[in-house]
Amino acid sequence: MKSLMKEKEVYFDCAATVKPFPEVLKTFEEASLAVYGNTASNHALGYQANALLTKARAQVASYFGVLPEEVIFDSGASEGNNLAIRGVSEHNRGWGKHLITTQGEHPSVLRVFEELERNEGYSVTYLGYDKDGNIDLQDLVNHLDAETSLVSVMAVNNEVGYINPIEKIASLVHSHSKAVFHVDATQAIGKEEIPSSAFDLLSFSGHKIGGLKGSGALIRKKNVILDPQIIGGSQEEGLRAGTTPLGLDCSLATALRLTFASLPERRKNAIALNQALRRGLSAIPEIVINSPLTATPFILNFSLNKHKGSVVAEALSNAGVYVSTKSACSSKEPGVSYVLKAAGLSDVVCRNEIRLSFSGMEDLSVADVFLTTLTQILKNLKEQG
Ligand code: PMP
Repeated sequence: MKSLMKEKEVYFDCAATVKPFPEVLKTFEEASLAVYGNTASNHALGYQANALLTKARAQVASYFGVLPEEVIFDSGASEGNNLAIRGVSEHNRGWGKHLITTQGEHPSVLRVFEELERNEGYSVTYLGYDKDGNIDLQDLVNHLDAETSLVSVMAVNNEVGYINPIEKIASLVHSHSKAVFHVDATQAIGKEEIPSSAFDLLSFSGHKIGGLKGSGALIRKKNVILDPQIIGGSQEEGLRAGTTPLGLDCSLATALRLTFASLPERRKNAIALNQALRRGLSAIPEIVINSPLTATPFILNFSLNKHKGSVVAEALSNAGVYVSTKSACSSKEPGVSYVLKAAGLSDVVCRNEIRLSFSGMEDLSVADVFLTTLTQILKNLKEQG
C-alpha cells in the first residue's frame, strides 16, 4: 500500500474525549494544593475547602439556571445515568414499575434499564425512531401511563448526532404523567442549548467539554427524590457518598465557563467544517452520510459501502487521522451499530460506520487533509483489490 505522509495530525474524535483547557488544569492544581483540606472537616482548612466547593457549586448551578443544591457532583455521565435511573425507579418501586427510554441511548443508560427489567421486574418501553433519528412523540404519549415513573431520553446522540426535542418531550411527559424526565446531556453540553425547563434530571461528563476525566455532575431538580446508589457519608445531599474531590469539582466549573463562553464561535466553526466535509464526502461514490442535516454540526457519521469501517479507520490512524468506527457494542451482533440499526439502515451501513466529531476549535484546513487522506486510502484499497 502506498505510504501516507503524516503531514498534519487530525483529531476528529472529540465526542470520545477532548484535551482539557490549560485553565482547567490550573484550577485543579490550585484547588488541590492550596485548599487541600477535607470539605467535611471542622477546622479552618475544612472551612476553606467547603467555601470553595460552595463557590464551584453556585457557578455550575448558574450555567444551568438551577439552584446550587440541585447540583450533585459525581464522576461523570456513566455514574450520573446510573444514579438517575436506578435512583428514581427504586424510589418509586411501590407504584411506578413502568419506565420509558429510546433504542439509541448510550450503554450506561440502556444496560441499566435492561438490568431493571431482567432482575427487578420493571417493564421498559424502548422507543424507536426514523432514519433521521426522529422519535414519534405520539408514540411516547401513548406509552405514558399511571405506572410510568421515569422517562429517559438523550439530548444529542453520541454516534450520529441526532438532536432530540427535549423541551417538547419534557412538556409532554409532565402533562401526561407523573413521571420524572431524565436527560443524558453528555453530548449536548457545549454543543446545543439546554433550557432549564427541559429536564428534571440531567447528567454529563467534564472530559467531553475540556474538563478532566473523572469529573461530572447530575443536575437534580429539588422536587425529584432519588435513592442513593453510593451510601456512606452525607456528601452531595446524601446522594453520592465519598470525600469530595474538590479539585475535580472546581475544574468542572471552569470547564463549563470556558465551553459556554466559546460556544457561539465553536459552533460557527463546526458548521463550516461539517459543511466542507459533507461536500467532500458526498462526492465519493462508496460513501453514504448517515447524520441528517438536522443533527448537531459537531458530529458527522458516514458509512462505507465497499470497505470495512475498521480497516479504513486503522489506515486513517496510521496516517495521523483519528476517528471512531463505532461508539457502541451490541453483545448480540458485535461490530454492528445498534443506533443505526434502530434507524432502519441496511446491514452494510450498520457494520461500516465512521464517526467524525469536532470541538469547533479546529483549523478549517483539516477538512482538506482528511478528505485527501481518505481518498488516497480508498484508492490504495481499490488497487489491492
Ligand atoms: N452518555 C453519552 C451520550 C456518552 O457519549 C457517554 C460517553 N461516551 C456517556 C454517557 C458516558 O460518559 P463517561 O464515559 O464519561 O461516563
